[in-house]
Amino acid sequence: MERLARIFSQQNELITLNGGYKDEFETFKSLASMPADTLQIFQKLALDLLQDLEQPVDRKGCAERSRNLREEGNLVFKESASGSSKDSVLKACRLYTAAVFEAEDAAEELSLAFANRGIALQEYGYYREAYDDCANALECGYPERLRHKVIMRQAYCAWKLKKIASLEEHLEHLGQLQLKENFKQQLEDLKQKLELLKNQPKEQETQAKVVDKSLGEILTDPGPRGRYMVAKEAISKGNVIFSERASCFVPLEQQLICQQCAASLMSAPIPCPNCHQRVVFCSRKCRDAQSAIHKFECAAYRKDILRLLGISHLALRLLLTYIPYIMPHLQEMTSAMGMWKEIMNLSRKPEASENAPEYLRSLRMVSQLDQANNEEVNYHILCVNLLQLYLKEHTDFYDQFHSLPASIEDWQLIISALILRFSGQLLANGHVGDGLLGVGMEPKEFVMLQPELWQKPRHLKRGQLHNLSHSDPITAVNLPYLSLCNHACEPSIRTKFDGCSVVNYAAKDILDGEEIFNCYTNDYRTSLKLHRAHPLKDIYKFECTCAKCTRTDPDQNYLSFHRYRCEKPNCRQEFLPDAKVQQNNLRWWLRSNAEKPITCTVCQELQHFAWYNEFLELVGSSADSSRRQALFKAFDDLDKWLVDHHSLKRIMAEELVTACFYEIDGGTSLNDYEYEDLARIIRKQLEGTAAQCGDNSTEYIARMTYLWDIIAQKKCRTDKKELLEMKGKVDYLASEHREVFLNYYNDFIEQ
Ligand SMILES: [Zn+2]
Ligand SMILES: [Zn+2]
Ligand SMILES: [Zn+2]
Ligand SMILES: [Zn+2]
Repeated sequence: MERLARIFSQQNELITLNGGYKDEFETFKSLASMPADTLQIFQKLALDLLQDLEQPVDRKGCAERSRNLREEGNLVFKESASGSSKDSVLKACRLYTAAVFEAEDAAEELSLAFANRGIALQEYGYYREAYDDCANALECGYPERLRHKVIMRQAYCAWKLKKIASLEEHLEHLGQLQLKENFKQQLEDLKQKLELLKNQPKEQETQAKVVDKSLGEILTDPGPRGRYMVAKEAISKGNVIFSERASCFVPLEQQLICQQCAASLMSAPIPCPNCHQRVVFCSRKCRDAQSAIHKFECAAYRKDILRLLGISHLALRLLLTYIPYIMPHLQEMTSAMGMWKEIMNLSRKPEASENAPEYLRSLRMVSQLDQANNEEVNYHILCVNLLQLYLKEHTDFYDQFHSLPASIEDWQLIISALILRFSGQLLANGHVGDGLLGVGMEPKEFVMLQPELWQKPRHLKRGQLHNLSHSDPITAVNLPYLSLCNHACEPSIRTKFDGCSVVNYAAKDILDGEEIFNCYTNDYRTSLKLHRAHPLKDIYKFECTCAKCTRTDPDQNYLSFHRYRCEKPNCRQEFLPDAKVQQNNLRWWLRSNAEKPITCTVCQELQHFAWYNEFLELVGSSADSSRRQALFKAFDDLDKWLVDHHSLKRIMAEELVTACFYEIDGGTSLNDYEYEDLARIIRKQLEGTAAQCGDNSTEYIARMTYLWDIIAQKKCRTDKKELLEMKGKVDYLASEHREVFLNYYNDFIEQ
């Protein structure tokens, strides 16, 4: 990172844009027309950096570590064969996965690790993944004399998966090999199974038809509003307004999620063996689907430059994804200027209909680069320049242009300009997708491979749902259709991220013809107008004039979560901190705000909040039963100082609940009263979360998992109404999580 910053600052000294920023094309044209010697220095800085970032692999060391992990896995797996412990099978899968990850570039070890993981996965019941691992092992050069074993396993998994064609193919292959007696027997056995399978009535493909109807409609306003979305009919709260599937996203913070489908619950991640395990796929199908993109990104992952480039990485992905669609428009052209004119034509065509292909809708997104300051523009230029040079020098990306009339220099100009255009667009239009992740997971650990959590594939053990409650941003996504919604601080939609798709639900009742708004920042319940105004101005370059911002008391909803009752015994009045404190930041409990006192606006008395530290102390000693009783009592006492759903109550509930579950997970047993107390506090926390964030928000569902766990353990009373309501929340989960939650509900909650 430091190195990159240093190079960028040296390059920055050399950039001069003649006449300031005009557009993406002129920018790179002017860069290319720098005096030759300056240009050479400028580009050499980037080229040297790219060269130096190459990280060598210690192939021998990798192979050895992989072998050790695999052998450890073998021991654990043998253990499972003697007992009936599913836990050790999963533990073996985890060790084999580590062996797969380590076996970078060591094909032989890799093939053995895949083969062994395949056995363990099959044993656990992950047949699709086991099937893939057999194919992986064969592909990496599994030893010839043992290949029949792997093919036999593949055939078995194909039978389990009812894939008749694959099963036939594997059996035919096996039939041609010289097999020992016991394998001949297995083969006969599978042949019979194939016949039975063929005679079974075909299962109807009951795939629910995806309704691809949008209840929103795009209108165009020649004025500043531009394109916007209105309801085509009245839409009631909770209904789906529209869905959109993204073809371009990148994982954030190097999250190891599938690079093709954004799955985060992977039981057999397949890493690319050439880029230091920074890229994984959930299946061979996803790996193959992404290969056309990854072949141009692999070296960049190996050099680890992509995470340093922020939004430009997503811009690169847009380029790689859309270039096959853009190229046909440009292939007759002989000059860069002509090509750019054509691209501008494509992006200016007015109708942004829902049916226009995604690359056109993306080309038409607004960019705010022309309103950015010099420093910002230069930073993006440097990122793009680095990526363009990378494509040129470290991939064969430019080979596709060789046979076309325009020169490679022209294409370089166009490619740079396109990446810069996408970067500028994504600054204002990029979305961040969130998801539920495993709690306290180390990098390169996978939640599906934690033996203490699972009883069988996609079925958690009783009391373990809360371990899936860590909600975090995981993807940066391009969603050109959703981007057409304008901003309001009270959004009309609640966006659910489901892998790389999004589903947008009505967050409230919407009238026929009413405009549909998204909220680009924190909303009116979770932030002050003043604090939202900053990002809206900085990033999106506008001042909000939405209904919430223009009413007489724009902050009333947010402030209703910050009302106090005075500590002074003879005052005890309800008050809101005064305006200056409000602007400063009302969250005095954060360390960064510790110096910002709150005084009662009725009697002017300074509030000491002694109860806050006492509460935290109790949280710290919640291993002790009597301290826990005091803690529950202290939570109830918060009502003395914090009015209604004060947002601090939610935060303190979270501290309390997390601490108690930490004890429970560690083996402490709570008595029945304590569980009832805990459930009561979670319910209260959920009420507060519903009031401030909405009752189908990710925050709400994440906190709800704790209540499910207590109910699953039959440790608190509940009723039909509550259960039904809770079950309804799973609609707002990504499908992979929905399945796990529903399994949990059916296994332990539904009577
Ligand atoms: Zn996938
Ligand atoms: Zn790779
Ligand atoms: Zn607003
Ligand atoms: Zn007072």
